Amino acid sequence: MRKNNPPPFRAFKKFRLKQALQFSSFIYQLGESSLLRQKSTPVNLIALKTVSQQKKIEHLKNYLLRYREITGQGRGITGVQVGILERISVVFTPENELLVIINPVITKTANKKYKYPEMCMSAWPIIAPVIRPAWIEFEYFDENGQQKIWNEKSDTERGRMLNRVFQHEFDHLEGVLNIDYCKGEDLILESDPDFYKTATFQEV
Ligand SMILES: [Zn+2]
Repeated sequence: MRKNNPPPFRAFKKFRLKQALQFSSFIYQLGESSLLRQKSTPVNLIALKTVSQQKKIEHLKNYLLRYREITGQGRGITGVQVGILERISVVFTPENELLVIINPVITKTANKKYKYPEMCMSAWPIIAPVIRPAWIEFEYFDENGQQKIWNEKSDTERGRMLNRVFQHEFDHLEGVLNIDYCKGEDLILESDPDFYKTATFQEV
């Protein structure tokens, strides 16, 4: 009887374990590779249009889409998480577009700060409530080598989320993970399938 109808939590655990087994084979997990702690090197922009460089960007996009397919979560990925030690991140925007960010340089950060529980594809199922500036400004190159500036400071859910994801991904370029900002007792283990439905940005 119990076997056929497990309590929702147990069913969820089983389901998530199955997912974890699928994605851990393509995204490095904490404790699995020391690569996650290494600094990434700048992308050589002169070679950006080469087939091998464009392939790396394509891989990164596909990894993010694959992760989302398996888990329904995941807003950004950075090269180091799949063994590419170059300064490339891909972010999935609220408009369902993939934004490629190469060699970002942060030029300004907000004084206002928010606390928000962050998940990392490399540290699932740990959720770390991290305090970060409400927004950042940065310069970067897109996948065509065009120089761009990000300076959207809108205090909307979209603005808060994107500014948060960028900061999380850029930390990966330095070998820093979300858990580094928290004490052990502040970490949360994801056990609620609806966790992110109630997650909010808290001003601190
Ligand atoms: Zn991450």
